Amino acid sequence: MLPILMYHGLHPDPAARGRFDPVYSVRPADFARQLDWLLEHGYRATRLDDLDPDTAGQVVITFDDGDVSNLEVALPLLRERGMCADVLITSGFLGQQGMLTAAEVRALADAGMGIGSHGRSHAFLDDLDEVRVIGELRESRERLQELSGQRVDTIALPGGRGGARERRIALELGYRYLLGSVPGANRRLAHGRWWQRIAVTRSLSLAQFSSLVAWRGAYPQLTRARHLALGLPKMVLGNDGYERVRARLL
Ligand SMILES: [Zn+2]
Repeated sequence: MLPILMYHGLHPDPAARGRFDPVYSVRPADFARQLDWLLEHGYRATRLDDLDPDTAGQVVITFDDGDVSNLEVALPLLRERGMCADVLITSGFLGQQGMLTAAEVRALADAGMGIGSHGRSHAFLDDLDEVRVIGELRESRERLQELSGQRVDTIALPGGRGGARERRIALELGYRYLLGSVPGANRRLAHGRWWQRIAVTRSLSLAQFSSLVAWRGAYPQLTRARHLALGLPKMVLGNDGYERVRARLL
């Protein structure tokens, strides 16, 4: 079973400036406690590119969007524990307020972090026609490869939106690791499949975090049911309508 954790930014104050959603902004001290919990329970952080299907106890730590705290806050906390992460960047956000700059992408890569794509503009891919989906996936990949000096093999779906068409296009363009946002445990390391991730939110307690990582107890099932229930208004309202309703509910 492979837990893949999905973080965004780390901020002491959720009202800090940037593009992030405060629900997904985790306190740096909570992040540090979560890393310590993983180490104490025998987990070893690995980059997607270094996954070994025969090794138990691996965990993948990912960050979406490209918030500058991935470098300024997360990187030192990871490095002092000998841990690593995959940073999934929206290339069109680079250099914007609160986001990584082009030079900082290289710094993360040089520090041993994996670099992956989270689209070019963060548009929800299932809203776009095929030509634009190809543009989003190809342009972000080329730019991030050029900046990082690494092969970019991973795409994380913006907003978790997308399915069979996005999967086919990503594989045709050379991506190998496909990350969605459906909460779950990955029981087999299957290439070319959407992998499930565990969203770490600001309100998540350490007990809830540990039950999600181990995928044990009632809480994981509850989280999954809630995620799937949120998918219903998405189908009925479309992505724009859903975002407006969600913004009002949160
Ligand atoms: Zn995102």
